[in-house]
Amino acid sequence: MVHFVGAGPGAPDLITVRGKELLEEADVIIYAGSLVNPKLLEYTKDVCTIHNSAKMTLEEVIQVMEKAEAEGKTTVRLHTGDPCIYGAIREQMDILDQKGISYDYCPGVSSFCGAAGALNLEYTLPDISQSVIITRMEGRTPVPPKESIQSFAAHNATMVIFLSTGMLEELSRRLIQGGYREDTPAAIVYKATWEDEKKFICTVGTLAQTAKEHQITKTALMIIGDVVKTSHYDRSKLYDPDFTTEFRQAKK
Ligand code: SAH
Repeated sequence: MVHFVGAGPGAPDLITVRGKELLEEADVIIYAGSLVNPKLLEYTKDVCTIHNSAKMTLEEVIQVMEKAEAEGKTTVRLHTGDPCIYGAIREQMDILDQKGISYDYCPGVSSFCGAAGALNLEYTLPDISQSVIITRMEGRTPVPPKESIQSFAAHNATMVIFLSTGMLEELSRRLIQGGYREDTPAAIVYKATWEDEKKFICTVGTLAQTAKEHQITKTALMIIGDVVKTSHYDRSKLYDPDFTTEFRQAKK
């Protein structure tokens, strides 16, 4: 059995209870060494074999899983944050399906939630934005042309941008071209929830300058939108005294 497990954004106590239990029971761990906090490996048992997937190809990862399976062992494939966001899990699952190896998926706290925690942010304020767009600039991995930053920017919704820290000048250019004001609030969160977390509030126009000043070149998220700073927003209907819900009568 292979368990795909979300490691959480960094802090070792932000893995789920289930994820921790799976780590404690695993015979073999394959962890994404570039971003998973190695402190999580302290939860594993002494006899566990540990592989760092940062140095492995997909084929090598599968080989390790296959060997463990043949020996009747349990494998945890530990991915940073939640595996469903840029986790490259589908390609592993498809090969495991072909090979008849069973697997399951234990979610984790994605770094975009870790970043909200770092900034005490709500991404969805009633009259400001009710949508969160998770995207990236293209790198070696292309982005479909219909998903351009400009096209998403046109919505002025909250945007969380992954995997793009080295491209902030171009990112700003596209965000503004697409329709955000240059002074739209933005944030850069580096290593959210890690001990060396850093966070900076800036604007769409000053993203690159802010990252440069603080030498942030990787492992960061950019949060874009008025939710980052606005002090004017509508209260929720859910907790409005005048509003009846399934669980509560309106006060008047
Ligand atoms: N599955 C992961 C994302 C993997 S892609 C998740 O759910 O978070 C890797 C990118 O995620 C990094 O380049 C960076 O943009 C972002 N990232 C991962 N962990 C981070 C953290 N703790 N703080 C800020 N950004 C992080």
